[in-house]
Amino acid sequence: MNKYKQTGKCIWCGRMEPEISFDSAPHVLPKALGGTELGMDVCEECNHYFGTAPKNRHGIPSIDHAFKEVFGAFRMFGKSLTSNSYKSYSSAYFEYRHKYGIIRIKQRLNTIAITRQFKRGLYEAFLQKYHLVTGNGNNPIFDAVRNFARYDKEDLRVYYAFNNVILAPGEDETNHPVLHIGKNAEDEISHYGFFHFLLLGHNFFLEVSPVAANVYRQKYLQEKVATCLLPAKGDESIYEIKNIEQIDFFMQRFRSKKQFVVL
Ligand SMILES: [Zn+2]
Repeated sequence: MNKYKQTGKCIWCGRMEPEISFDSAPHVLPKALGGTELGMDVCEECNHYFGTAPKNRHGIPSIDHAFKEVFGAFRMFGKSLTSNSYKSYSSAYFEYRHKYGIIRIKQRLNTIAITRQFKRGLYEAFLQKYHLVTGNGNNPIFDAVRNFARYDKEDLRVYYAFNNVILAPGEDETNHPVLHIGKNAEDEISHYGFFHFLLLGHNFFLEVSPVAANVYRQKYLQEKVATCLLPAKGDESIYEIKNIEQIDFFMQRFRSKKQFVVL
């Protein structure tokens, strides 16, 4: 019995053995981010797909890589930086100069394409964790998730709760982040079509079933405004992510002067 197999049907491509195999460990959150939890029923080919940059498309990272970059920056810049702590920050795209307190872009970024990869990474982690907990990842309700995350078709809406207070997770969770699935997650998904994605103190809301989400979007987001926004400066809000730059993953909201330098 393969240890990464539960139902024996890949949650992404729907194929079964012997056509496919379940030999490589599918991380729910990228290993490069410190994720240690392993998923089930993700075939070799699909697992490889998420960790591989698209061919012949310069400047576009793999899905796992885009996910790791954004949450890696959240993790690093969410705490107060000392002259030593910044040394542990490494990124393919950005460099942080602690002496000058600036972040530089190493290369020209296609932020729209990276945004799409990042969003797809949220859905990758969601379905793998959901399947791990419920065993129901093959449910046709998630066909839109599969189309977007695995086959790069269509688009799904993702919202972000912008707060000026971040309830920072403890050291252990910072080093080994875990995606949690709340007790009422299944109900929220079947009723509203949304999944509340909470990681490293940041709240995202993923449209996972567009049919339900199209009906209940406003009601769902209003409820989240009441429960997930922490009133502090008055500019807190929940908005749809169209570009990763909107989510301020370098946490500049906590610094007095603008430190993002584009060369
Ligand atoms: Zn597969």
